[in-house]
Amino acid sequence: ALLVVGDVVTDVVARHRTPLAPATDTEARITTLPGGAGANVACWAARSGARDVRILARVGEESADWHERALRAAGVLPHLVLDPDVPTGTVVSLVGADGERTFLTDSGAVLRLSAADWSDDLLAGAGHLHVSGYLFFAAASRALARLAMEAARARSVPVSVDPASAGFIARFGVDRFLTAVAGADVLLPNCDEAALLTGLPEPRDAVAKLSRDVPLVVSTLGPRGAVVARSGTVVGRVPAETVTAVDTTGAGDAFTGAYLAACLAGHDPVTAARLGCRAGAEAVTVIGGRPPQESQKSPGITPV
Ligand code: ADP
Repeated sequence: ALLVVGDVVTDVVARHRTPLAPATDTEARITTLPGGAGANVACWAARSGARDVRILARVGEESADWHERALRAAGVLPHLVLDPDVPTGTVVSLVGADGERTFLTDSGAVLRLSAADWSDDLLAGAGHLHVSGYLFFAAASRALARLAMEAARARSVPVSVDPASAGFIARFGVDRFLTAVAGADVLLPNCDEAALLTGLPEPRDAVAKLSRDVPLVVSTLGPRGAVVARSGTVVGRVPAETVTAVDTTGAGDAFTGAYLAACLAGHDPVTAARLGCRAGAEAVTVIGGRPPQESQKSPGITPV
């Protein structure tokens, strides 16, 4: 089993024709999709063959049923805590006719996940705990993340952390972030996050350096694939697959979900990164951050 503690978010993608200005665009095309890095990772892990994938997250009452159904349809068992006061976290993406994107985010219920929402039962039979880095950015959810990580360590369950966003880390503070993730076994940053966390622009150097803080670091490099480092040394590099990108939202989450499913199936980190790149390539060919529903029954990752 895989437990993800993280974020369930409502993604509102609005494609507009007229440039953003105080005016009404009656031709806008607005789509509402289930998202959130943690939830996307859980769905991609299930899609990649991981069994008994669970997620702990907090949502608002207005969309709880919809999120619950979407997660179940993707093969994930949701443990959604209903927040009585605020709505589900929401990200509005404004996409212009030229493809330019503006993101408006409201963390809503996401960061209100707290230690009171934890139960050790969530880890029953778990072979891995994955923590979405967003949880480190507020005191309540950071306490929950720490509690989950300690409970996992006490049971010798490996822990991975996805650093979430370079922008958030910059505001939160690099040293504070690295202190918060100490104790994780695997860190899964993208190359921007790895550069920010180390001050090293070259991904190989950044990943090698980071792997002195966290034993295993697997970093994605967008269309350049991924790089794996262990205890200060780069141990593998995996190229991306060649595809035509339609929407890069969730590529990193797809990578992480497939990577974790592969590790749970017994694959080594470099092979798991290769399977991660395959999922990342698939993710960029579909709109939104979740796996495509119609291919839910694909064979997934074969255990070793
Ligand atoms: P994030 O979404 O976290 O920034 P990346 O952009 O690094 O993550 O993408 C994650 C993975 O998805 C990459 O390692 C790569 O394998 C795959 N990927 C991303 N963009 C492309 C692309 N344009 N073509 C092929 N694969 C891609």
